[in-house]
Amino acid sequence: MDKEVLKYRRLREEMVRQQIEARGVTAPRVLAAMRKVPRHLFVSEALRDQAYGDFPLPIGEQQTISQPYIVAEMTQALDLSPSDRVLEIGTGSGYQAAVLAQIAYRVYSIERIRALYVSARRLFDELRLHNILTRYGDGTKGWEEEGPFDAIIVTAGAPEVPESLLAQLAPGGRMAVPVGGAHTQELIRITRDEQGIHRSRLGGCRFVKLIGEEGWKEH
Ligand code: SAM
Repeated sequence: MDKEVLKYRRLREEMVRQQIEARGVTAPRVLAAMRKVPRHLFVSEALRDQAYGDFPLPIGEQQTISQPYIVAEMTQALDLSPSDRVLEIGTGSGYQAAVLAQIAYRVYSIERIRALYVSARRLFDELRLHNILTRYGDGTKGWEEEGPFDAIIVTAGAPEVPESLLAQLAPGGRMAVPVGGAHTQELIRITRDEQGIHRSRLGGCRFVKLIGEEGWKEH
């Protein structure tokens, strides 16, 4: 096998063991997906060798690809099964969507910055991730025509949980969303059952802002 491919596979294995399993992520499907997706292809060539480090990285347009552990933790919080349809707000590099696409039936991902939307779409096609559908626009309103969703993940920090996203969460559905201030937030897990909506806190996190009609205002 190609030397580069082997090198990145080894870095990926180390990432899963030292950053993800070591911090308590145990879901076999999540660990398998994190071992499989070539994270180095979701950053610029200059940053490839840092792609498996324990930190977020810049992806242009003042946005970031999240730290590997956060991607794994949020994916585990969604408790996905192979028949699930998942909505992601904030495609960014496309990495989180690619991880979700290993586990779920279909991923619907929305991005508000055109350049990021275009490059992620191109990469999904190159990697033959045909179960990822993409959309350019404000994701705080969700994707009503395709809802309700079994799971919703918001990968940008919201001042409050957008009402439109709550409305598009199916009965039995799970949502992971960072909620709080402009610089630090708390990761919230939301579930919906016959009794209604339930929230639990998963811990502190730092995301770029969710900007849109039901998020932060642009300025
Ligand atoms: N999931 C991404 C990945 O795997 O690379 C990381 C996303 S980055 C932390 C947050 C992304 O959310 C940015 O690309 C940003 O442009 C996008 N974003 C912010 N507000 C948004 C909105 N209202 N609708 C869609 N995307 C939004």
